Amino acid sequence: MFNFFVDASARVGGTFRIVGKDHNHICNVLRMQPGDTFLVSCEGASCLCRLAHVETDAVIAEILEDNYQNTELPVHFYLFQGLPKGDKLELTIQKCVELGAAGIIPVEMSRSVVRLDEKKKKSRRERWQAIAESAAKQSKRSLIPEVFDVIPYRQAMQKAAEMDLFLVPYENERGMAATKEALARIRPGMSVGILIGPEGGFDEQEIALARETGAVVISLGARILRAETAAIAAMSLGMLHVEMYPDGEEK
Ligand code: SAH
Repeated sequence: MFNFFVDASARVGGTFRIVGKDHNHICNVLRMQPGDTFLVSCEGASCLCRLAHVETDAVIAEILEDNYQNTELPVHFYLFQGLPKGDKLELTIQKCVELGAAGIIPVEMSRSVVRLDEKKKKSRRERWQAIAESAAKQSKRSLIPEVFDVIPYRQAMQKAAEMDLFLVPYENERGMAATKEALARIRPGMSVGILIGPEGGFDEQEIALARETGAVVISLGARILRAETAAIAAMSLGMLHVEMYPDGEEK
């Protein structure tokens, strides 16, 4: 289940008034509707809430239950995955859902070997969503992550720009300083995009465009990993960091 973090001032009687980036995230990224449920964390306690209604600058959430437990990470990780060959994305989706990803966005990249027609895109997506669902149930997630439509790279950049932090593990990047700094920037309530290239990796234009979009380009170590391994390693890194520092790393 999604979890949003608010200050004590957001609590108004039996409701929370959610403003700012989370208002945009709930309405435009997650496209939640009245009746949808999510958690609101306030001063260390989580409340189960229901979206009551949306105002131009705020989402009003009705509190259904105080002190609610859930298994979701307090950070929403979105895996943007360059479309790989064959059925490789299936393993990536299964593992990344187990590791806590909030959503998966398959991306057509210049070195993606496969090109799916519209019919294939639809049938693949249904299959990928079913894999996400069974992985979510198996790992006792509180929500079922969404597998989004396959989108072209430029559109992926637009979606990535909506994230609070956009990480791009790049095979040609060296040194772990940027990786360490990027992890230290993660705070509860953030949305974090992670973009992994296909088997052929990134071309230089794609990396340039990602940098223009605000990406933090990072390394996952000195060895070249297969795309599936890289996605699993990056998600593990993010997940374990957040599990260890749920309130954000102390400076
Ligand atoms: N064909 C490329 C490797 C692509 S690996 C080559 O031989 O150089 C597929 C994707 O996994 C990459 O685009 C990158 O996103 C990720 N990746 C693999 N190894 C990585 C590493 N050591 N650091 C960061 N990202 C890595």
